[in-house]
Amino acid sequence: MEPKQILKQVFGYDSFRLHQEAAITSFLNGRDVFVLMPTGGGKSLCFQIPALISEGLTVVVSPLIALMKDQVDALRLNGIEAAYINSSMHHYEQAEVEQKALDGKLKMLYVAPERFNLADNSFYSFLKKANVTGFAIDEAHCISHWGHDFRPDYLELSALKKDFPGKPVMALTASADKATRTDIIEKMGLLNPAVYISSFNRENISYAIKNSQTVFEDLLTFLEDNNGKSGIIYTLKRNDTESLAHELTEAGFNAIPYHAGLDSHTRAKHQELFLKDEVPIVVATIAFGMGIDKPNVRFVVHMTLPKNIESYYQETGRAGRDGLPSEAVLYYNRGDVGKLSYFARIEGNEKQTEIMLNKLYQMADFCETVTCRRKFLMNYFGESHPDECGNCDICLSSISVEDYTIEAQKIFSAMVRLDQQFGSYMIADLLRGSKSRKMKPWMRNLKTYGAGQEHPRAKWIQYIDLLLHNGYIKRTRAEMPVLELTEKAWRVLKQNEKVRLRVKKEQHSQLPYRDRNIEYDVSLFEGLRAQRLLLAQKEEVPAFIILSDKTLIELATKKPTKEDQLDNISGFGSVKKGRYGGAFLEVIRQYEKKGRLPDELKFHSKNYKKKRKDRHGKETSSQTTLNMYREGHTIKKISELRAIKESTVMAHLSEFVETGDINPSELVEPAKLKIIYHHLKQEPEQLSRELKDKLGENFTYSDIRIARAAFSSPQIQR
Ligand code: ADP
Ligand code: ZN
Repeated sequence: MEPKQILKQVFGYDSFRLHQEAAITSFLNGRDVFVLMPTGGGKSLCFQIPALISEGLTVVVSPLIALMKDQVDALRLNGIEAAYINSSMHHYEQAEVEQKALDGKLKMLYVAPERFNLADNSFYSFLKKANVTGFAIDEAHCISHWGHDFRPDYLELSALKKDFPGKPVMALTASADKATRTDIIEKMGLLNPAVYISSFNRENISYAIKNSQTVFEDLLTFLEDNNGKSGIIYTLKRNDTESLAHELTEAGFNAIPYHAGLDSHTRAKHQELFLKDEVPIVVATIAFGMGIDKPNVRFVVHMTLPKNIESYYQETGRAGRDGLPSEAVLYYNRGDVGKLSYFARIEGNEKQTEIMLNKLYQMADFCETVTCRRKFLMNYFGESHPDECGNCDICLSSISVEDYTIEAQKIFSAMVRLDQQFGSYMIADLLRGSKSRKMKPWMRNLKTYGAGQEHPRAKWIQYIDLLLHNGYIKRTRAEMPVLELTEKAWRVLKQNEKVRLRVKKEQHSQLPYRDRNIEYDVSLFEGLRAQRLLLAQKEEVPAFIILSDKTLIELATKKPTKEDQLDNISGFGSVKKGRYGGAFLEVIRQYEKKGRLPDELKFHSKNYKKKRKDRHGKETSSQTTLNMYREGHTIKKISELRAIKESTVMAHLSEFVETGDINPSELVEPAKLKIIYHHLKQEPEQLSRELKDKLGENFTYSDIRIARAAFSSPQIQR
């Protein structure tokens, strides 16, 4: 059969992507091949299709046991004979797989690189006997010191071309830079390889950097707007993963922590809950990710700055592998740069330290840039890109040039009077005329003391940051860095030069927070998703291996009710059609006939979402909050006593506003409520984010949350 026919019949796809077809043809012609494709680009098909067409066995080297298992499970569900061998297996299990291969019953065999250790003669002699067609090396950058993920075991693969002469090798990676690329080809000893390099751009991911003063509040709203979707939240420290997961659970979200310090059992369990779509949110350190090949991750949030752009791109790249719109959000706090530079230092290796620090500063530059984020990223990876992508926070918010001369003059003269011996907080406090004890009497006598009452402290700190980023101020390199004026600033002070800066307006309402360009029946989708979960549990595989979200969306759009209509649905190969087609068609048929989902699925799709009430009648956390509120404690007090955030307290109370137990005007001024109701009446479905943009700074997310709860409450007069 032709590659294209296999693509349709076995995998259920209509057309090839990027360089897939060319790579497949070259490999089938017996050539060595090098494939560079971004994550989610579709590397696997490049060797899977040739494997199905060729006579013998294709050996696939993959670094992680978990990945291997998923890939093999996925192949089997498409009716393909594949297996894996790894160190976790018993000898006899291994022998069984090998025998199957020798009998010609396997098309693909997945193995870990350490199998190729020459000391393990038995595997080599097995391979010599087997009818091997060729080798595919996944994550090939692991062979290079230049890559970000060098694995010594991969070096064993250097011998492949010599030990199996004439067998083509395909090396695949998503790792970008040129040095790594050439190094892979050289170390693998590829002979005159066909090289296919696809663009690195991940069009379906939107990038946003936020400088929020109320990060948690902002995060809650983001998660509410994305309710039920799967996502990863990265934090720097292990403890933070646990406390944040706890906070989110308190606030009613279904979230679990993941970090390398958890025992292996918990780790495996949490990973599985996430993979199988049973818990949508995982809060993790960067230990989480390698081996996560989950296609329907809809968002990746960074609570702290990643240490370099490579890591950032890799971590955000875990979103949207299925090609559907996904979001990458980073909460940027300039203070992180200082914290991380501490980690970037490598004892006794100045050169390496400098490289690491430099990478860190580039990461910070990325956050502070006022040009298109995607363009910045692409340029970083050596690709050109047009000025605007239309899908990042910069492109979607307006950039304006503003005059900051007055603010700059005040800041600069405050610095001069403070002898340039302090940091931004002290400068801001001085301008505000702070009464804090840190303000020494001599400071209070300065002319600039209290000269900046017109802006709040946080605003002054932002201005200082802005001037820092624009080169008017610099940080000294001392152990305890302080701020100094640069030549540019002196010109402002002495020659009355104007300070005009490009700034991003804090306005995100254009961001594609929801996949708005896709129109599909959301409740049918939920039902199909529930059906998929049931099937996945029965088969004991992650849900996405049964069908991708993309396929479910297509089903919920085209709503096929007959078997042959499934041929037009991407992702339904012939085996899957036979095995699961009926189950999904049945859901659609019932839904179309009765206008609602079958009851057993409704239960499941609800269950998938966040749980607020404990079914066993135990007092829920929100109930405890309510009781304390009834006892007369303030929100602040409850937050302290319960060690949860104030916004979490408000989230708890909003539940009781919805049930009519609390009058919303106890929590939010009636005038404000009225305004929010007004907006909700016009567009009840709008996201809290958008609402906040319209309402402005005087309204908090908590105000909106309470008003929303009241708005959907049947008891309340609006
Ligand atoms: P990578 O290994 O490059 O990260 P995968 O091989 O896992 O990517 O493919 C990502 C997703 O895209 C998978 O769900 C895969 O089935 C799907 N896919 C691959 N090729 C095609 C294609 N030609 N048409 C539609 N979907 C495809
Ligand atoms: Zn852009």
